[in-house]
Amino acid sequence: MTRATDTVLKGLEEIRPWVENLYKDLHTHPELGLREHRTAAKAAEALRADGYEVTEGIGGTGLIGVLRGGEGPTVLLRADMDALPVAEATGLPYASTATAQNADGTSVPVMHACGHDVHVASTLGFARLMARAPDAWHGTVVVLFQPAEEDGVGADAMVADGLVDRSPRPDVVLAQHVLPYPAGYVGIKPGSFLSAADSTKVTLYGRGAHGSMPQHAIDPVVMAAMAVVRLQTVVSRELGAATPAVLTVGSITAGTGPNIIPDRAVLQLNVRTYDEDTRADVRAAVERIVRAEAAASGATRDPEFETLAAFPPTVNDEAPTGTVAAAFTEHFGEQAHTIERQTASEDMSRIPEAFGVPFTYWGIGGTDPAAYEKATAAGRLTSDIPVNHSPHFAPVLQPTLDTGIRALTAATLAWLAAPEG
Ligand code: ZN
Ligand code: ZN
Repeated sequence: MTRATDTVLKGLEEIRPWVENLYKDLHTHPELGLREHRTAAKAAEALRADGYEVTEGIGGTGLIGVLRGGEGPTVLLRADMDALPVAEATGLPYASTATAQNADGTSVPVMHACGHDVHVASTLGFARLMARAPDAWHGTVVVLFQPAEEDGVGADAMVADGLVDRSPRPDVVLAQHVLPYPAGYVGIKPGSFLSAADSTKVTLYGRGAHGSMPQHAIDPVVMAAMAVVRLQTVVSRELGAATPAVLTVGSITAGTGPNIIPDRAVLQLNVRTYDEDTRADVRAAVERIVRAEAAASGATRDPEFETLAAFPPTVNDEAPTGTVAAAFTEHFGEQAHTIERQTASEDMSRIPEAFGVPFTYWGIGGTDPAAYEKATAAGRLTSDIPVNHSPHFAPVLQPTLDTGIRALTAATLAWLAAPEG
């Protein structure tokens, strides 16, 4: 495996300027979810030039590139393409000044504030190296470029548009994300890695009346207030101390003036959990408490629950995670780490789930190592380090891009390396 990895990576120096320019170009031209037309076209163009069979327009702007190298396993590598409505404040020469129209017609700034441009550029770099070293491996490489990860809908869109029938069936799915660790860092862990995130809108119905005549009202403001207080007990009283979860009511709205009791109140809540059982328990507890508070107030109409966004938990399968961790240790030595569980969320796991195959997902660092060391001197990450989604998020070009390419290569060749002879 080592020899195959080294053989494929021999071409890295030669393609490095191309990868860096591609990254800067993508960074300057970010696109919001489901509108990654330019990004997808760039990816398709590069893949075709490298001899990949390309299928575009899967789930809107999603695409796959397939490179066949004879008999052997199939590895699918996923990169997300979308950017965020954030006004870039990095001051980089290749910073974005792009804007886009929101659904309501207003103009919003657009920035690659989550590093998905790192994922696209390093995956295309990896794809090129694999195409140029056909003797080092056998099997099939599938690179997949996914839209709209940030909204949690892109992976589902590709699956709903027939991904499983339009792609070779992989034996394993791999993915990576740039995170606020020092550039050069790679980290992976088996089991639960990223949280599930569920955002729900709850509408509580009461009965409106004059503020001076509460006896004629069913007051949804009181109902909502009681529900918010009692929802605090879901994590603190219903889950064990070793079960991490977060329940936040981020928005509560009701009423228009001091002397009018409104007829409804709306809560928006966000729940983070790390496994499906806890996720289901918390969901059930939220519903039970909200319904019970409505009943306690004498509401004559049941509360309504609307899902605003639902990200599954990302739970790395043990076997492929062990395989990739060993490949990382072999290739990166001391730069290979066991990463901590993250509170962020991902929809990537919908793809291996659709194929019914295992997956593993790891993190790479993007922060300037000197700045990271300074900021963490106190023993913990401080606000000096811009994290994902910050307007100051600016991964250093290198070794971030090289590390992304090397990680994808070492991991893939753990399945596809030609036997060493
Ligand atoms: Zn993000
Ligand atoms: Zn992201």
